[in-house]
Amino acid sequence: MNKKIIMTLAPVLFVILVVIVSQQKVIKTNSDKLTEERNTTEELENVTMEKAVVSLVVDPNRCRGCGKCVMLDQEHFRLNGNVAEVISQENLNSKALSMAISACRDRAISLE
Ligand code: SF4
Repeated sequence: MNKKIIMTLAPVLFVILVVIVSQQKVIKTNSDKLTEERNTTEELENVTMEKAVVSLVVDPNRCRGCGKCVMLDQEHFRLNGNVAEVISQENLNSKALSMAISACRDRAISLE
């Protein structure tokens, strides 16, 4: 009796196993495609952001020379008398620059 049940269920179990394995392959393929598309989208966004940001500017009429931007980001700013000035247009996506822009209470720093 048990042998008969096993002989009946074996093909069914085999088919189920084949279906599960094939579904896993499909899921993995779709996952790889999504990862690839996400990476491509991120690269395009980065390129777009780089192109959209033309230059870093300090408005001398707004700057009161507090020096916060210089303390936070010496790559991009230095004080020239009582006014901050931009010394580099490179690496405009840096965290230090973002912090310096946020720290300027006079809103003298902008990316145009
Ligand atoms: S933080 Fe703003 S106000 Fe202060 S020095 Fe820098 S640009 Fe000028």
